Amino acid sequence: MRVWWRCLFAVLWCCQYTPNPNNLQPYPPCLSVDIFMEGTLTARDRVGVQDFVLLENYTSEAAFIENLRRRFKENLIYTYIGSVLVSVNPYKELEIYSKAHMERYRGVSFYEISPHIYAVSDNTYRALRTERKDQCILISGESGAGKTEASKKILQYYSATCPISDNMSTLRDRLLQSTPVLEAFGNAKTLRNDNSSRFGKYMDVQFDFRGAPIGGHILNYLLENTRVVHQNHGERNFHIFYQLLEGGDQDLLSKLGLERNALKYHYLVKVCVCACVYVCRRSRPLLQGCCPRVSSINDKNDWRTVTKALAVIGFRDEEVEDLFNIIASVLHLGNIQFGEGQDEQTEITTETQHNYLSKMISPLSFEQAVAARDALAKAVYGRTFTWLVAQINKSLAFKDDVYNSSKGSSSVIGLLDIYGFEVFQHNSFEQFCINYCNEKLQQLFIELTLKSEQEDYEAEGISWEPVKYFDNKIICDLVEEKHKGFIAILDEECLRPGESNDISFLEKLEDTLGGHAHFVTHKLANGKTRKTVGREEFRLIHYAGEVNYSVSGKLDNNVVFMGLCDFSVQVLCQSDSQILRECFQREEVTDQKRPETAATQFKNSLAKLMEILMCKEPSYVRCIKPNDAKQPGRFDEALVRHQVKYLGLMENLRVRRAGFAYRRHYQAFLQRYKCLCPGTWPNWHGKLADGVATLVQHLGYKPEEYKLGKTKIFIRFPKTLFTTEDALDAR
Ligand code: ADP
Ligand code: MG
Repeated sequence: MRVWWRCLFAVLWCCQYTPNPNNLQPYPPCLSVDIFMEGTLTARDRVGVQDFVLLENYTSEAAFIENLRRRFKENLIYTYIGSVLVSVNPYKELEIYSKAHMERYRGVSFYEISPHIYAVSDNTYRALRTERKDQCILISGESGAGKTEASKKILQYYSATCPISDNMSTLRDRLLQSTPVLEAFGNAKTLRNDNSSRFGKYMDVQFDFRGAPIGGHILNYLLENTRVVHQNHGERNFHIFYQLLEGGDQDLLSKLGLERNALKYHYLVKVCVCACVYVCRRSRPLLQGCCPRVSSINDKNDWRTVTKALAVIGFRDEEVEDLFNIIASVLHLGNIQFGEGQDEQTEITTETQHNYLSKMISPLSFEQAVAARDALAKAVYGRTFTWLVAQINKSLAFKDDVYNSSKGSSSVIGLLDIYGFEVFQHNSFEQFCINYCNEKLQQLFIELTLKSEQEDYEAEGISWEPVKYFDNKIICDLVEEKHKGFIAILDEECLRPGESNDISFLEKLEDTLGGHAHFVTHKLANGKTRKTVGREEFRLIHYAGEVNYSVSGKLDNNVVFMGLCDFSVQVLCQSDSQILRECFQREEVTDQKRPETAATQFKNSLAKLMEILMCKEPSYVRCIKPNDAKQPGRFDEALVRHQVKYLGLMENLRVRRAGFAYRRHYQAFLQRYKCLCPGTWPNWHGKLADGVATLVQHLGYKPEEYKLGKTKIFIRFPKTLFTTEDALDAR
């Protein structure tokens, strides 16, 4: 078959394909690139298979990883599993993101061209336009795997290829500029990633009826605000602190009472004997943070980018001034030292801070005073971040009074860039929240893909081996069930300050959840002790594997997130700063309602996120980190295997392979191919199903190649269909 005809066929196929609303694929799911569009792909592109569905030994994890490795070595970082894009971080700039590349992927069907994040972006966009159904792209993977870069590339693709409505270039710029601002305030250097997002992000991009972006909205999740007061050795605080100190001009720094030297600030660098001693296995005290300068980061340049971006987004000068005042005050707060005053009171001993902070004498112990200071810094920073997101949202909001023509006909593509499953040596409250979030996303994946795929076969009466998959609802229930779920127990324990502690919490968990198939402690049923779970730990058996969580500090974390002592709120809601007055409201103190705990807040925000995602058609990008050293060209097999497991990729592949590549209504199938069979040509007058049966029998389809349902024919392999197309071509 000639190439141009194959292209035409691809387009025709895509136009004719009537997607099942329950079916994920807007286009045929696995047209093999080996089969058509020879002109587009070079031999190099064909290293390994570019869709795992084509792997001969598709149940073998070793074959899966070998395919990833071979392609990675050739800088082919993208591979599909059906419509899921697997991406391996190259840790170097590749020449595959130019404007010319974007053009190449524009309007071209998913499987006609080598796998790419632009193919996913384009396919999602076209599905939005043709099916008028909201879409979402879910990006997951562990820290440093390339999630944020992928989401940036998707945004860049839309901003470069979508039409622009009148006056909407401003919105496009604001959408793009929201990224450096959020990264400055929400990202930090960690051991795993020099630009690690320390919050989860869901962003909606809204399009009008012409397909032009007209608005945006961001939801942020679980900012790691403990980082404001503490970082492990080799890590940094949020970028904005260093950017301000490096990039801010002298006048600004003087006004804020800051010195251009990160070493002066305890929240950035301080001598401490802390967890990092344990991690680094050294016995001498180490510096917190300890790396104000990082070779891959240029704080001075980034400062310029961020201040410009703030202006593009529409922040007023007074707001920006107020914002940096707050950032400076957090640094000053960190430098407050406490000493013993009269009557066992604690007082501030650092003179220099008094000009910037009101003098406090506190009836707290030394430790309590330090904790109160840190809680204040975390709350101020955390709420300022939330304020920042709210301001960006105001600036991205779709103003339908101005763009009335689009009213009611807009549609949305959502981008989710959220922490993947985390398993460390020591897992705490944070990992618990992250992994719970991943359970919910897995549940969504099951709901939207596996179940609906199987339901479609059932509805059509297709007999096939149901794919066995693990429905993780049981784990989600274990965490979130009312009254007897993990979060309910945690919240209840938090209500009994003084009476409850980490151990009593663990006992309560044992009483309520002991015996649950997915909950394990060190106690064995026969009275013996399980060695693999510590005495202050419990283990959850997640869908992706087992994780031991420490209970130490869980109660504190759950409450600390809630807020501050009333006194702090009273002071802050009277602050000179407009931002702080907006962030801290008097009602918080006067309102007698019990505030929500951190876990409940997170549970509720996840439930809302699931609602948002549930009514959209999802696409998936699974990101993999090839090595821990952030090095280009290095592929650490053990590390990749771990991620393949926790991303559930083998399960993904199994389900895709178990299904049928294509499904088509009888009428459409018969209409197209009836001329190939004397029995159906020129017209078939009987039942459509019988006509199709006559046709495929004549064409010599083997029983294992197809199935006939109630209204559709299901074809297992792409090759079968292309042979039929060739026959059509040869007439
Ligand atoms: P995550 O958001 O998953 O934690 P990032 O997206 O921040 O990870 O990626 C970490 C780093 O890896 C980036 O700062 C960049 O240096 C590199 N990186 C990720 N994806 C790519 C890519 N497609 N091309 C080049 N470098 C990349
Ligand atoms: Mg990130």
